[in-house]
Amino acid sequence: MAERVLVGAGVASADDGVVIAKARVKIPGSIVLSNQPGERFSLLDVKVALQQMREQIEIEAFGSTGESIEILRAMAMMLSDKELFEEIKARMSEGADAATAIRGAFSKFARKLTDLGGHFAERSNDLIGIAERTISLLANEPSEEEDQERKILIAERLSPVDISSLPDNIAGFITEEGGISSHTAVMARANQLPAVMGVVGAGVIKDGDNILLDATSGQVFINPSQDELANYRAAIETEVDLSLETPVPLLANVGSAIEGGSAIKAGAQGVGLYRTELLFLGRKDAPSLEEQVFEYSRLLARFKDRLVIARLLDLDFDKPLPFLTPAGEGDYFGRGLATLMANPDVINTQLEALAKASSYYPETELWVMAPMVTSYAEAKQFIEMARPYEFDKLGVMVEVPELATPQVLPALFNLVDFVSIGSNDLAQYVLRRPRSSFRSLSDAKHPEVISRVAAIIEAGKQASKPVSICGEIAGEPEAAQWFIDLGASSLSASSALLPALRQKLAV
Ligand code: PEP
Ligand code: MG
Repeated sequence: MAERVLVGAGVASADDGVVIAKARVKIPGSIVLSNQPGERFSLLDVKVALQQMREQIEIEAFGSTGESIEILRAMAMMLSDKELFEEIKARMSEGADAATAIRGAFSKFARKLTDLGGHFAERSNDLIGIAERTISLLANEPSEEEDQERKILIAERLSPVDISSLPDNIAGFITEEGGISSHTAVMARANQLPAVMGVVGAGVIKDGDNILLDATSGQVFINPSQDELANYRAAIETEVDLSLETPVPLLANVGSAIEGGSAIKAGAQGVGLYRTELLFLGRKDAPSLEEQVFEYSRLLARFKDRLVIARLLDLDFDKPLPFLTPAGEGDYFGRGLATLMANPDVINTQLEALAKASSYYPETELWVMAPMVTSYAEAKQFIEMARPYEFDKLGVMVEVPELATPQVLPALFNLVDFVSIGSNDLAQYVLRRPRSSFRSLSDAKHPEVISRVAAIIEAGKQASKPVSICGEIAGEPEAAQWFIDLGASSLSASSALLPALRQKLAV
């Protein structure tokens, strides 16, 4: 398995949503200009750089379409603004080097735009990007265009103007900030650039890391294993007839409502795992009820007459949230349901938001499940808490060995309406090795893991309750066939993998 898998909001273009390439990390403010006498840039140098920048942006506007033209023209005008130049001049005369003066003056302008709010505020990031490009011009930094190798750009944030000026070798991008409805996302789609945005932890990606960007499921695989790459490559290269029938429904794993579009295009018969944590990550406060209703409704709206299985917020150690008090035992401390239960406001608001969204889209079948359930008692507590919301079905994820024993499984199936197997976590807890250390998908296909999966499916059959598999191996054809033979009722995987999986499993 990959060294690490990060999640964000996937922005898939019309044609494809997967890019495999090396990372090109863009660090804002990384260019330092000398302030030594004799090496220091003059005010005239800065004036020339601003003029060159203006000309570049005008050329970019000329080659653009629609809304981008307006944005670029406005930016070009700002570069000739007298006030901006005076601000740079004042900072340099106080002793600042040219780069610091440019960054400071542009930031001041950006703040002014932010204060104006609305449409202007959205443009403030453009200014920061332009300041950095002006400094690169001044420093005579070799342009990225000279680099011919395909790369995935990693940045804290990118503005719409940044997107319009990306060199041709940039095949996709990942940002720590930004959302799927931002102008940057709109530009990415218009430019057919797959992206994953709002990725908490993207800062761990190093220049030159191998990256698998899957915008159809909002996943970023850092240094993926050979067989993960092979699985995705095979999937990308296969032309598939989406009308082929499979023995069990093929569902999609998604991380945001917008990824529902890729799922439907890929022939998903529903959503088998809606990872809701994206709404919560990187925030100081929990998202409001209204915000959640809006996002859940957008996904449910796309899946009329189909199934959506939503998973409540699943925490992990590397994504702590300041508004949640962690809870739980031993290896599972700070994860999943135990932590949610320790924060009743958060879990109740999420359940209420899902119920409200479901009431707006009654034709979509909504099943709700709890993540990282570690005991029967915990499962019971969850079911009792969620029952009054009257979802179509209530279930739990089985992803720890303590829940997958012959003693617990019959009682568990008696309690819940369905089970979803999280094979990623199940494998790490059965094999007692962090999932980040799995170098291949076959680690997760270890006989000890498969025998647990078989036991869970068997217990589901005995109780006549559905069992779905939504870990990464569900998207790998050989493992998928085993699960079908064992009696799984559905499989759920990234949309990018579904068409090829359909072809392999077709009856
Ligand atoms: C899993 O553990 O298999 C799973 C699907 O959940 P996540 O990968 O989000 O932990
Ligand atoms: Mg899991």
